[in-house]
Amino acid sequence: MRCLICEGATLSHICERCRHEVLTPQLSLRRLECGIGVYSFYRYDDIAPLLHTKHTDLGYYLFSVLAQLSFTPFAASFHFSHCVGALGIDDQVRSGYAHSAILSKALTCKAIQPLYGKLLASKPHHYAGKSLAYRKAHPRGFTCRPFDVIEVIVVDDIITTGTTLNEAVDVLRDAGKEVLFAMTLADARL
Ligand SMILES: [Zn+2]
Repeated sequence: MRCLICEGATLSHICERCRHEVLTPQLSLRRLECGIGVYSFYRYDDIAPLLHTKHTDLGYYLFSVLAQLSFTPFAASFHFSHCVGALGIDDQVRSGYAHSAILSKALTCKAIQPLYGKLLASKPHHYAGKSLAYRKAHPRGFTCRPFDVIEVIVVDDIITTGTTLNEAVDVLRDAGKEVLFAMTLADARL
């Protein structure tokens, strides 16, 4: 088959060279209105064609590759005195998989335990191309399902205005959780 990035011949959808030369993660940090830091690994524009496969079988594969190249090494270098939780934003299964669950799973290590289905949105608003004002006027209506871990990392695929992550942090804080930081694959403002 052909590599989706360089179109060279390869045995998988993304060739080894592109994995290591084109998809090299660059850690960046941005701060939400609520004060929480958000770590991202890619410029949105650089991986947008890959992210647009989100709701297809290929999307499952590509999200897994991106997660292995970015979230997994991050987790390997993350140290904490005890185990914290990783919560994927609205990780309900649609089209066969939940992209944020792939990302939180990739954080699995001694100090991070993924917790699935704990932060679900009650309103399926689609924010793509919408203004900050629209996003703020149409909250996702997150609910936090009970779990024991207090300290958590919040995980999503993209940060654009930060509205979704801010809302998620507010809901978690109301539930008595301490959000350490958030993580996304791509930042749309870089
Ligand atoms: Zn390639």
